[in-house]
Amino acid sequence: AFIKRKKPDWLRARLPGGPGFRDTREMVDRFKLHTVCESAKCPNLGECWERGTATMMILGDVCTRSCGFCHIKTGRPPEYDLDEPRRVGEAAAIMGLKHLVITSVNRDELPDGGAEVWAETIREIRRQSPGTAVEVLIPDFCGDWDALQIVLDERPEILNHNLESVPRLYRAVRPQAIYDRSVELLRRAKAQGLNVKTGIMVGIGEREEEVHALIEDVCERTEVPGIDADVPATNLDPGPPDPNRMLPGGHLMEPGESAHENLGTEKPDAASKLRRGGYLVDHLSPGWGHHAPVKADPVAMAAHRDAAEAGTYPGMHPRCDILTIGQYLQPTRNHLPISHWVTPDQFRAYKEFAEAAGFRHCESGPLVRSSYHADEQVMAAQTA
Ligand code: SF4
Ligand code: SF4
Repeated sequence: AFIKRKKPDWLRARLPGGPGFRDTREMVDRFKLHTVCESAKCPNLGECWERGTATMMILGDVCTRSCGFCHIKTGRPPEYDLDEPRRVGEAAAIMGLKHLVITSVNRDELPDGGAEVWAETIREIRRQSPGTAVEVLIPDFCGDWDALQIVLDERPEILNHNLESVPRLYRAVRPQAIYDRSVELLRRAKAQGLNVKTGIMVGIGEREEEVHALIEDVCERTEVPGIDADVPATNLDPGPPDPNRMLPGGHLMEPGESAHENLGTEKPDAASKLRRGGYLVDHLSPGWGHHAPVKADPVAMAAHRDAAEAGTYPGMHPRCDILTIGQYLQPTRNHLPISHWVTPDQFRAYKEFAEAAGFRHCESGPLVRSSYHADEQVMAAQTA
């Protein structure tokens, strides 16, 4: 199909150049970091760097895969840099980042696919910059669930794995990936109570009904044991302040208050203590954001039993919380062609469909990338 070369007006992004941009540039150079913003020729680079956000790419800048849309170099990667996790942590601390997105190339040649380096990077950020929320955009580790577990054990605030496109197009879009395997990865992360996110590109040959089917696949409900399997998530009224609702460390939480700052580096542990103590942590997360501890009460428990019988068991969650949808842009002529420009109206319609299907938040628009305004996406999901 013929597609007009000229981009529609809604795809014009801001050019780089302000003081914030220069600071980000300096950090990236000083710590010898790779960013996906540059490697993928992201159209939002000017805007994101100006506001001090960048997506760090670890494990080098050469990928063992060759996705049809991706501008990152393919080949046999050199040895990875053992000092990189420390530098990422230091950069996060110096930049004072509240939210950091990290991704990596695929390192299919490594026995664990790079999972240990991932875990070490998260630990370094926690150690050097405890106030930074960590969002990881991870590869599929070739379906090696033990490798995945190494990353999940670090309890990142957001676990992101992009499906990129609908299954029919995988051969062209992600030839070395398997759609069902990626969906299973999301399910496994959700089953451990993490905040899960995925993203797709549109305008790469998909049909609308295929996008709808993908959304429904990802929203299929999955059981999340431990977090709110015992108490209905619907009963989130914390009632009057109660000294029993003390967080470890003695801080009395207000409803809706962010536990993130209070819990610091002990977040996951503290959240699980809350659970063990019979309090409910907001079902979005054990490790992030608005924890509203609530006591299990008899009325809530009865409602829970009814719901279980009716098959609307509140311990069941869509296997994914956040979805991003953006326009595919062809990085060079050797990459897959753009099939069509998706209109802003269609993006809005996808968002409505996704949120009706069960996503807590869907960010859908021409310039949306999975890391675009990632911090705000989380806020939106929390208040959903
Ligand atoms: Fe970087 Fe993501 Fe912003 Fe693009 S959208 S510039 S990849 S942070
Ligand atoms: Fe690019 Fe695909 Fe490699 Fe990811 S796995 S860096 S999308 S080539």
